[in-house]
Amino acid sequence: MEKRDNSISGMCDPAIGEAGRTGDWRDVRPVIDHTKCIPSVKNKPACFLCWLYCPEGVVKGSIPVEIDLDYCKGCGICAEECPAKAISMVREDKIDE
Ligand code: SF4
Ligand code: SF4
Repeated sequence: MEKRDNSISGMCDPAIGEAGRTGDWRDVRPVIDHTKCIPSVKNKPACFLCWLYCPEGVVKGSIPVEIDLDYCKGCGICAEECPAKAISMVREDKIDE
């Protein structure tokens, strides 16, 4: 069988953190409300659109869904695509750690 060339495919596999660790310049971060997130609510693998659309490949398609904030760039695509509106983009200076 002919080998697939990922470099010309619209379905290329994302490399986690291809653009490197984010550092401290990110202004906003995604925060998941697991009471709304479909896999957590249904307790089964479903949706995962955030995993699919994240350009950094840093969303883990697990239950619960996890985001690797060391590499997340805060672009907000995951929040835009989430059909359950389960992801909020929260300003970094409003996060209590
Ligand atoms: S904010 Fe952007 S980089 Fe971060 S998890 Fe969402 S889609 Fe990925
Ligand atoms: S897109 Fe939203 S509902 Fe779907 S898995 Fe991600 S956070 Fe959960």
